[in-house]
Amino acid sequence: MKPLVVANWKMNPTTLVEAKRLFDSVKKGIKKIKKVEVVVCPPLIYLSELRTQDSNFKVGAQNCFWEKEGAYTGEISAFMLKNIGCQYVIVGHSERRKYFNETDEIVSKKLKSVLDMELTPILCVGETKEERDQGKADKVLKKQIEIALNDVSKFKIQNSKFCIAYEPVWAIGSGKPCDVEEAQKAGLLIKKIISNLFNIKIAEKIQILYGGSVNSKNAEGYIKEAGLDGLLIGGASLKPNEFVKILKSVV
Ligand code: PEP
Repeated sequence: MKPLVVANWKMNPTTLVEAKRLFDSVKKGIKKIKKVEVVVCPPLIYLSELRTQDSNFKVGAQNCFWEKEGAYTGEISAFMLKNIGCQYVIVGHSERRKYFNETDEIVSKKLKSVLDMELTPILCVGETKEERDQGKADKVLKKQIEIALNDVSKFKIQNSKFCIAYEPVWAIGSGKPCDVEEAQKAGLLIKKIISNLFNIKIAEKIQILYGGSVNSKNAEGYIKEAGLDGLLIGGASLKPNEFVKILKSVV
């Protein structure tokens, strides 16, 4: 399987012109890199402007709402995302959990709506620094995954493409990435949790990504040493040269 590298632009850049420029630079930079799958998740407002025909280069959303339509001012549904050609949706990013009070139950509803639309979810899980210091990291991952997947049928998950990103909160945007060995351990734990919830075949099929202060110097280790399936990249995805360097380093 090709490594999957997801760019989370968060609430950047501030103009459509810059977004198009950034997108085109990445597109140009990855022309010759065929052995990696790239998904760019821009702010929703730019999403329909950033199209690609390339099977290795796709667009995704950073969030969605769980209902299909209706009186939900300001929200966008998974159905709408599908309709404009979006293929991936980040669900449960720690910044949404923190700033928008997204609970595991809310994350679960969003995840189900993404699966129902046959889009690929990128479920983000990870412990805070405090939880890690208290030795609760494994418990947190287990709880986040179990609640998110509560009521998702074996049939649904085995027939879907599904990604889980291990994103320790303390590593996001901090310049303090997680050790490769720790990320590998978290990846194995996630597979075990999935295997216990469903079965080993499903656990093997799910793609595990790492996210948190990834750059062109450390990216390779998570894929080639830890054996993870991909990366979720925030800050470095806004610098096209650095992002393309990351892509080259993981193939
Ligand atoms: C993220 O926001 O998902 C992320 C991993 O950010 P950064 O790469 O900037 O740590």
